[in-house]
Amino acid sequence: MASVTNERYQLRIDGTSTPASTDEYLTTVDPATGDPIAEFAAATASDVDRAVEAARAALPTWQAKSPIERGRIAHRVADVIRENAEKLARIESLDQGKPLEQAESDVEDAIRYFEYYAGVADKLEGKSVPRGEGTLDMTSREPYGVSGQIIPWNFPLSITARGVAPALVAGNTAVVKPAPTTPLSALHFAELCREAGVPDGVVNVVTGGTEPGAALSAHDSVDQLTFTGSVPTGEAVMKSAAETITPVTLELGGKNPAIVLPDADLEEAAFWVATGIFTNAGQVCSAADRAIVHESVYDEFVDLLVDRAESYELGPGVEDADMGPLNHADHYETVLEYIDTGVTEGATLETGGDPLDRDGYFVPPTIFTDVDNGMQIAQEEIFGPVSTVIPFSDREEAIKIANDVEFGLSGGVFSQDVKRALDTARRIDAGSVYVNEWFGGSVETPFGGTKQSGIGREKGLEALDSYLQTKNIAINLD
Ligand code: NAD
Repeated sequence: MASVTNERYQLRIDGTSTPASTDEYLTTVDPATGDPIAEFAAATASDVDRAVEAARAALPTWQAKSPIERGRIAHRVADVIRENAEKLARIESLDQGKPLEQAESDVEDAIRYFEYYAGVADKLEGKSVPRGEGTLDMTSREPYGVSGQIIPWNFPLSITARGVAPALVAGNTAVVKPAPTTPLSALHFAELCREAGVPDGVVNVVTGGTEPGAALSAHDSVDQLTFTGSVPTGEAVMKSAAETITPVTLELGGKNPAIVLPDADLEEAAFWVATGIFTNAGQVCSAADRAIVHESVYDEFVDLLVDRAESYELGPGVEDADMGPLNHADHYETVLEYIDTGVTEGATLETGGDPLDRDGYFVPPTIFTDVDNGMQIAQEEIFGPVSTVIPFSDREEAIKIANDVEFGLSGGVFSQDVKRALDTARRIDAGSVYVNEWFGGSVETPFGGTKQSGIGREKGLEALDSYLQTKNIAINLD
């Protein structure tokens, strides 16, 4: 793999590094300092055409490989990522801002996606359908063709692997569009895929801003789209996809509730809620945004949460601080505006709030109490290290507050009573619910949202449904 800094990165199309058609470049910066790290090619719509053409041209070669062979290649991708894990984690940490240990965990997830789906490549079976004598009826699971994948900046490498691994083993080829503030790991990933024996054109990466994303989602030669990002962009992607009747999987935001019942182990609950909202500086779609806490344990829980928040040491991700900076300047401003809004709305700022007096985009762990669920800070996704703590007096009220948002991505419940915990978990309207933990899912478990949090499921075996379509063949035996 090439080195990371002071480099000019090109697009990866058809197995080679190639400049954008306009030969223009954007800059990605280190969010811990605001200093440039590297330049990368700014793809245009015509570059997206080239990438999609390469992905289409590669389909016959890729689909001619047996499922066993595709599985073996996916295993080799996992191995090659593992061999380069240290360097990839450093690149991700530098470009995204996250602590090195969290970047290492993301690289491990990327490896696991390839290992997990590699094992499935030769098990994508169809069915036979009993229709009586004289006919044989069977189904097969067919790849869509070219998969367009649009990636956000919070987990650049692991979300790329999360979509590309199932797409490839199912027999699709891919064009990946990373976010403009975190393009580096996907470019290295494409290079590593080639090293692992993925044929040219099967994995292409077009970096840039809105133009390549919009071009990919409107492209009439893209057969399937996977988008992870914000609700407004997800809507735009879905509208463009409607023009060409292209299926979409959308993983959008969340405003996730963590219900703390009066019988919860409060130390444990405070640990998981802090982990859930301060990991990756809160830039996690499944963050524990709203702690909904019973009034009888509210003050004690807040004290424990504040202690945890104040114990975080902030610093550059590459120095493996407890928390890194926010990813980019605009987002930093947005999070600070939300903190001002919380104060104006009358919530109590218990800790944090003021940005660090240093270069880079550092916002400390911030906790608002006395939050009403109708406040903007309780309804809108802040996507930063800002916890909102909402009191409740009975469990019905807690469930009502939990579900009273436009999102439904994840949720959690803390209780030592298994019946109460399970009943509450079942009634939280979300794609994933964690009991007495947070971020409880893994590569093997389905992940996605209800309501405005999205359409479809990523991860686990269910993700394959986004990359395969069923074909029925009816044979007349008379
Ligand atoms: P975003 O919507 O701004 O951007 C996502 C991607 O879309 C980027 O690559 C961007 O360049 C591209 N894009 C921008 N305009 C486009 C257009 N018109 N057409 C097509 N593509 C376009 O989101 P973001 O700010 O990068 O990510 C943060 C958001 O993503 C948060 O809301 C977060 O909750 C959500 N998210 C969700 C999940 C999930 O799995 N549910 C995971 C990570 C992030």
